Amino acid sequence: MNIAIDGPAGAGKSSIAKLVAKEMGFVYVDTGAMFRAVALYFLNRGIDTGDEGAVSEDCDKIQVRIEYLDKTQHILLNGEDVTEKIRKEEVGKHASVVAKYSAIREKLLELQRKMAAESDVIMDGRDIGTVVLPGAEVKIYLTASARVRAKRRYKELAEKGETCDLDEIERDIITRDEQDMNRETAPLKQAEDAVLLDTSDLMIPEVVKKIEEIVRSKTKAGEGFED
Ligand code: C5P
Repeated sequence: MNIAIDGPAGAGKSSIAKLVAKEMGFVYVDTGAMFRAVALYFLNRGIDTGDEGAVSEDCDKIQVRIEYLDKTQHILLNGEDVTEKIRKEEVGKHASVVAKYSAIREKLLELQRKMAAESDVIMDGRDIGTVVLPGAEVKIYLTASARVRAKRRYKELAEKGETCDLDEIERDIITRDEQDMNRETAPLKQAEDAVLLDTSDLMIPEVVKKIEEIVRSKTKAGEGFED
């Protein structure tokens, strides 16, 4: 059984998916981390992420791998553990740029589908319910207002000691949403059969509970699921 969670930046996808994974025994797969690792590759080499030709040309030189240590996802870029390095705002911005290119998407799509075929996964991203796992038994579209999402990001960054400005974060979030929703390949959108959850006024445990109820109802109703 696979669960697809899509939605814009800062909607709470990863915090929520991690908890559902832990409580229900799914493997959590953060696909945004894969795009971030690819972006980091280009940032490290000083290659302009806006140059699709240059990015596509280097695509074969990039190896992204996921490993689990103590049930926590670690992301390896050409053998180096970059789990921490990819969390910077800068990397997220460039991830959204390279995510527009079909050469990059095709490369990561293969890895994402392979992981879903090997285990019961809860996978979060932008195109999981629409493109990566259109047959996922449960699809959730998580969203929240841009202001609420910016405040959450601000708090996260402040806790890590990164200096940041709330209005700037909100502007970046809106730009990233626009980029992700309006690209030609695999844009961010709600799958027709996804359940919409607006988390603006909900606490994390409430959202986790709602998703677990949806999963349980599907499991009961789906005794006749094909493998
Ligand atoms: O979720 P996160 O903020 O880590 O994702 C970084 C960027 O990677 C997103 O803004 C989006 O452009 C891209 N992404 C994507 N498809 C996914 C996951 C992430 O295009 N499935």
